[in-house]
Amino acid sequence: MIEKALQTTAETVLRNEHYFSDLDGLAGDGDFGTSLASGFKAMNREWDEIDKSSIGTMLLKISMICSKHVGGSSGPIWGTGFMKAAMPTRGKTEITLAEAAELLQSAIDGIMARGGAKRGDKTLLDALFPVQEAMAAHSAAGDTASALKDAAAAADAAVDETRSLRAGRGRASQVGERSTNTPDPGIVAIATILQDWCKAFGVESAPTAEEVKKAIA
Ligand SMILES: [Mg+2]
Repeated sequence: MIEKALQTTAETVLRNEHYFSDLDGLAGDGDFGTSLASGFKAMNREWDEIDKSSIGTMLLKISMICSKHVGGSSGPIWGTGFMKAAMPTRGKTEITLAEAAELLQSAIDGIMARGGAKRGDKTLLDALFPVQEAMAAHSAAGDTASALKDAAAAADAAVDETRSLRAGRGRASQVGERSTNTPDPGIVAIATILQDWCKAFGVESAPTAEEVKKAIA
């Protein structure tokens, strides 16, 4: 499932290479889509050689690929996210939903430490936090499909909930008021990835944010 999720993520990112950059161009420097796509193109090229003997080894390798190939300020963010996600899954070939929620919390903590952003700064963290909470809420019942559906809905809601915020970190924070009333491309990307995961795993889901509707497969 994790392999399929990663391959689906690459499809989402490559399909939206230009669209995500266009969204970044509204308040940032317009490189987000191409930066992210460089990393996932590299992941696709190296896919067959990636050591998938455990979830941790696989995620660690993807962390290295992201650090090396994702451009701009996204490289260290996505690289750190995958690196921290790899740590609690070291040596594991299976994880529970509770462990998946822990893995995401570890990634969130790493991204906050690396980028100096917090919740409410209008970065991808504003999508990752509610996704983590949705997964944690379903941990006890262990119903992966319901968790995915709620996580996707939470990330989609984050696009509109944060639209009116002024960016607190990243390039968009330097343009001040121009960053209000534009969606954050990182939040749109996370929301779109989650919607595409729903589709890939046969979970019914309907986004409401305009940008996510446009970006889904
Ligand atoms: Mg940018």
